[in-house]
Amino acid sequence: MKPFGYERATDPQAAATLVADSTEAVYLAGGTNLVDLMKLGVTEPALLVDITGLPYDTVEHRPDGGVLIGALVPGSRLAGDLGIRERFPALAEALLSGASGQLRTVATTGGNLLQRTRCVYFQDVTKPCNKRRPETGCSAVQGLHRDLAVLGTSDFCVAGHPSDMAVAMAALDAVVHLRRVNGSPRTVPLNDFYLLPGDTPHRETVLQPGDLITGVELPPPPRAPP
Ligand SMILES: Cc1cc2nc3c(=O)[nH]c(=O)nc-3n(C[C@H](O)[C@H](O)[C@H](O)COP(=O)(O)OP(=O)(O)OC[C@H]3O[C@@H](n4cnc5c(N)ncnc54)[C@H](O)[C@@H]3O)c2cc1C
Ligand code: SF4
Repeated sequence: MKPFGYERATDPQAAATLVADSTEAVYLAGGTNLVDLMKLGVTEPALLVDITGLPYDTVEHRPDGGVLIGALVPGSRLAGDLGIRERFPALAEALLSGASGQLRTVATTGGNLLQRTRCVYFQDVTKPCNKRRPETGCSAVQGLHRDLAVLGTSDFCVAGHPSDMAVAMAALDAVVHLRRVNGSPRTVPLNDFYLLPGDTPHRETVLQPGDLITGVELPPPPRAPP
């Protein structure tokens, strides 16, 4: 693995400034996806900015039945939250269907949204992959693509998004809360958050450099018909 630096952020502005100032600095949350990709050489950041000490780790239920889920809330705690289980069972089920108990204990809500594809060629640095290295070609189009996407593909990439949680959140009309580098808040509906691959599959979301996910809001669930 390439040597890298490590900084533990104590406030959001310090974290955002570090990441925005360098194209080689990235946020580190649970590390369950990022560190795996570093071991494989798929990504080689020079600096990891650990955000796990930032104050985005609560699940706030609203009087109207909606909820604001902090970006650092781990999957295990979210899946076990009583209000989530009662009002958003699809989300709890989606979380419990993914990974393992050990992983869910450290994997965060923000990191889950931004996990990278499980396409085998993306993870194999000896193979062409437009998403990992633009304009090198897509090995999956003529290769192994059995578990990849059937909708939202292009001639440049046929990878699916790997997050079970994101699918449930999209169905629940989730809204992603962001903090821009200048400190201003921004909200983006999850259904507008991800980009289709087109001819630039390496661009996956609308995030700008240094944008920090602070949480995900779910509106009140629709009432069951009487
Ligand atoms: C063996 C294994 C099996 C798995 N199985 C499943 C499965 O069945 N279903 C499933 O859905 N997932 C599965 N996963 C993926 C797992 O859910 C993700 O690895 C995890 O959710 C990522 O969260 P994290 O906090 O560890 O993110 P990290 O690895 O720390 O970060 C991931 C990315 O998000 C960025 N990031 C993190 N937090 C923020 C933030 N707040 N703002 C901006 N950027 C941020 C990081 O810079 C990085 O690019 C599996 C993972 C493993 C290792
Ligand atoms: S499907 Fe996408 S991620 Fe997989 S090899 Fe093709 S370009 Fe890379």
